[in-house]
Formats: sequence, C-alpha cells, structure tokens
Amino acid sequence: MSLGTGPAAGPRRAAVRLDREGPSRPPGRGGPSGISPLPGPVDPGGPDGVAHGTIGGTMGSENRMEPLGPGSRGPAVADVQAALRSLGLLEPDGAGAAEVYDETTALAVRHFQQVRGLSVDGRVGEETYRSLSEARWSLGDRLLHHDPERPIRGDDVTNLQERLLELGYDAGRADGIFGRETEAGLQAFQRDYGLTSDGTCGPSTLRALRQLGRKVTGGRPQLLRQSASFVDSGPHLIGRRIVVDPGHGGGDPGFTAGVTTEADLVLDLARRIEGRLAAAGATVYLTRGRHQDPTPEERTRFANDARADLFISLHMDAHGSQHARGVASYYFGTGSGTSSTVGERFADLARREVVARTGMLDLGGHPKTWDLLRWTRMPAVRLDCGYLSHPVDRLLLLDARLRGTVASAVLAAVQRLFLPADADPPTGTFVLPQRRALG
Ligand SMILES: [Zn+2]
Repeated sequence: MSLGTGPAAGPRRAAVRLDREGPSRPPGRGGPSGISPLPGPVDPGGPDGVAHGTIGGTMGSENRMEPLGPGSRGPAVADVQAALRSLGLLEPDGAGAAEVYDETTALAVRHFQQVRGLSVDGRVGEETYRSLSEARWSLGDRLLHHDPERPIRGDDVTNLQERLLELGYDAGRADGIFGRETEAGLQAFQRDYGLTSDGTCGPSTLRALRQLGRKVTGGRPQLLRQSASFVDSGPHLIGRRIVVDPGHGGGDPGFTAGVTTEADLVLDLARRIEGRLAAAGATVYLTRGRHQDPTPEERTRFANDARADLFISLHMDAHGSQHARGVASYYFGTGSGTSSTVGERFADLARREVVARTGMLDLGGHPKTWDLLRWTRMPAVRLDCGYLSHPVDRLLLLDARLRGTVASAVLAAVQRLFLPADADPPTGTFVLPQRRALG
C-alpha cells in the first residue's frame, strides 16, 4: 500500500490524527505526552550569529522524546498503532492488546522505517514519530500554504512538490516541507494555468493538478540548478561556506573505544577537516564544541542560517558483530527517485577518497531521509568513517595520523565537487594546490 507519496487520484486514506485534534491542526502539535512540538524556524539572525563557529550555549530547551519500543504501553502506543493501521501496516483488529508495544507493532514500525528510509530499529523515537505523523496527510486533506512561523510538513506537501517538479516548476526539493521555494513554484504554476496566484494549494489548484495528471514529465529544474551552481564556482574554495557537523557531544558520547569516545574522535576529525578546508580558502563552521550536544534540528538550523553550500556530518559506527567494518556515506533521498544529485555525488566522492587513502572497506553510499539530511537546505552528507567495534578499524581511527588522512580525503572530495567534471582527477591522487597568495 502506498504511504501517500503516489498520485493523489486514488481513494483518500482515512486520516488518523495522532494528536486527536481537529483536522486543521498541523502535525507535530500537541502530540502524546513527552513529545514536544517542533519549535518554528529560528529568527533569521543571518550568519552573524554563527560567526564563532559553534552553536554556542544559546540553543537550550531540548525536550527530547522518550522512545517507544517493545514493552512500552499507554496512549502514545495506541496512537502509533492507529497510525500504522491507517497506513495498512497493522491489521485492523490485529492480535495483541491495544496500547501495548508488542512484537507485531515493532515489526510494523520496522516496515515503516524501511519504506521511509529511516534507521530501522523497530522503535519510535522523535524522527519515526514525526514521519508517522506526516504520513497521514494525503493531498487534498487540508489547504497547503507557506507559513514561515510553522512550516506545513507532510506527505501531501511531498506529493505537491513532486507534481510541480514533474511539471517543470522549481518547487525546491521534494522534502515534504512547504517552504518559500514551494510557494514560488506553486505561484508560477497558478499563473501559467490562469488560477489565482496566491501560493495556496486549495480545491481549484488541486483540480488543475489532477487534470494535468502525469502527462508532462522531465524538467526537475532544481536538480539541474544544483549541479550548475557547483560547476560555476570554479576549482578553489574561496567564498564557499561549509558546515562540518561532528556527531554527538556533551553528555552523549556516541560509541566508545576504551576511554575514547566517538564524540571526541569525530570532533578531532572535524577540526582537522576545518583546518584543511580553511587553508584552501573555505569558510568553515563546526556545529558544536566539546561540551555541546545540539539536536538534529539545531544542527540543521545552524547550517541553514549560515547559508552553507555543503553540510558534512561525521560519525563512527559500532556493531555487536566484530566483523562489521568499513566506511559508509549517506545523502538525502527516498530511494524511489527523489534525491539530491549533488549530495549523492559528494557522498560518493568522500567515501571513495577515504577508502582509497586508508584501505578501509567500502560499504557504499545510501539514500536516507534522516532529519539531518532532510532539513538542511544545502547538499548534505553523513560520513560514517569506520567501526569502533572492529579491531583494525578501531586501531586506525585511534591513530591521529589516520584521522589526518581522512581529513585530507574529505578535503580532496570537497575540491573535486567544485571542479568541472572533465578536470576531475582519479580518486586518491588529487593533491590540493596551495592557496595562492592574494595579489
Ligand atoms: Zn554516531
């Protein structure tokens, strides 16, 4: 069964509302206890507020959701089950008591996570909860418009964006968030089709979209634009803003390797990358210092406010099996066609450079809809640079020289991203030219 990103021509799904409120309430508001509504976008302070390179202590008030998982019970579980049922992932009157997070529920959640490109763990944390809550909206369920204070999110928005893109209108990327670009694309469509150009998707706009169906395809101008702006920027990094995001931090150590933590290692790596990129002329910001652990929303808001050209998130992995090892990269994409071309290319370049220079195992690049990749408005990539649970990977990652090598690999990848394709050198060989003295 479609989760709602398909054509809207089909019968309307019953919209189950996690918040048990009236139909005009946007998702994410007033959910079950423990789930705080997403704060609206931060006031546009511009890059001034981030000039010091870290998010700083001003981003307080984290009210994180206690994840639901096997053994959980209560109304929040019942809401999740109702949402899964409305998506056809749980039997209407399935076995097992309501309000109890049983095996069947966990299985349905895993299925949902897999289809949506989320991390598959069978538990409902904030990200999965939000996705569930967004999945219940079908195009036509509500009026869609741009609300700068509290952007409308949901599968109906994704559907609208995909339709506009298919018709050749630049509606931003199909990320399910109704932003300014979506509004502009919708207005252009309305103008061309003789509708009131108010940027609101209501009944008459829906009728026009449905009549056009999927006859017109191609276009996708935002993808072309993304690629073109990178080629235009030339080979050097002067004027480029790059946000490097070391995962975890503060009270969240991530995985550990003896006394050393993932949080410390990726921070060290981020600083090495920062140094190399800055030497090549780029303006670099880190999302955190040693004692901070910003939420995904704070990290992405930081990058958006900095108007970054590229976002690089750094992690390391661990696994119960000692055999798990290697380097993986992730970029924004649903796995069903919608993805960031530049993100995918950089994910590929960075991982291949690291693999070529360190000899670590290549685990490939993968499209994901993680918040971090989705909320960033610039190409965003997460690089998982090895397994702290693997004896060889761990030795490598604990070695400062190896981390320097990884930083050089990331620099080479950034540099190659900005090079025209025909000037692209083979992987593992590119040495950055020294930044020329000015004048
Ligand atoms: Zn991590």
